[in-house]
Amino acid sequence: MGTKLFSTWEGDLLTERTYSESLSGLWKDRAPEPVKKLSLAVKISVMTGKLVEIPAINTNTLTNEFCQKMHASSPQCICWDCYSYAMLEGSRKNCQPAWEHNSLLLKSGLLSEIPRFNSLYVRFDGHGELINETHFINYLLITEHNPKTTFSLFTKRHKLVKKVLETRKKPQNLILVYSNPIVGRITDKIPYYFDKVFNTTTEKSTRDNCTGRKCIECLACYTHGTNTLVEMKKARS
Ligand code: SF4
Repeated sequence: MGTKLFSTWEGDLLTERTYSESLSGLWKDRAPEPVKKLSLAVKISVMTGKLVEIPAINTNTLTNEFCQKMHASSPQCICWDCYSYAMLEGSRKNCQPAWEHNSLLLKSGLLSEIPRFNSLYVRFDGHGELINETHFINYLLITEHNPKTTFSLFTKRHKLVKKVLETRKKPQNLILVYSNPIVGRITDKIPYYFDKVFNTTTEKSTRDNCTGRKCIECLACYTHGTNTLVEMKKARS
């Protein structure tokens, strides 16, 4: 029986092999191949559906401790029925390695390779959530290095944002959207340092200004102007 020697998230870092030989025979008859190194580049996602035509930097929702806690919190919380959890455990399972790669890079230290964008609008964490302060500082660095692009970050972690932005200036081209965790309780209150608040409902509200739209045609979360967004939560089976 073979032994699985390596098992890793990062498919392009280590190739999982099954060895039937003893350790001493491990290298026998093996053609030399270049050693693959962990890429230091953040992976950019081409989005579909609502976010079609808006590139995104995503992270892994499933391994994010904040998301895990929120997902297990209460049915009143939007994270209880998280679209990203469902997708990453189902139809988008194949995205897990790339987004885990981003999670590791973004949370572990300042980026040595800052991605450059030629798109007017970019979404941070179309999937995922801020992991720690380093993650947010890396988003600030990316924003500062791409002054012609407007970045939109949806986050529930207002305390983390405040802590970081007390120490450094928020770039003009970053739009911070506070994602209200409570379903069906629309609020206009925007935390300090944020630009907008995003609410969800279970039934169509008269204040709904998002449901059924594509972001690239709407841009309310990528431009200044409308500060309260309301969308009806999608039904999931
Ligand atoms: S309000 Fe517009 S930009 Fe914001 S999430 Fe909805 S469709 Fe996208």
